[in-house]
Amino acid sequence: MNMPPNTPTNPGDDAAPGTPGTGEDICDVCNGSGKAKDGSKCPNCGGTGKVTEGIGGG
Ligand SMILES: [Zn+2]
Repeated sequence: MNMPPNTPTNPGDDAAPGTPGTGEDICDVCNGSGKAKDGSKCPNCGGTGKVTEGIGGG
């Protein structure tokens, strides 16, 4: 299977970075720390502390 080029980078992303109509936001799971409760890399944002979400709420 081929992945489309705009596949979200991390599970917490709504869209790939740079997608029109989206922007970076603080990860809800780790509150921007990039780390999960056990100290490992946050699975939601991939350790970046940020996720890409659609702008305008919803
Ligand atoms: Zn996170």
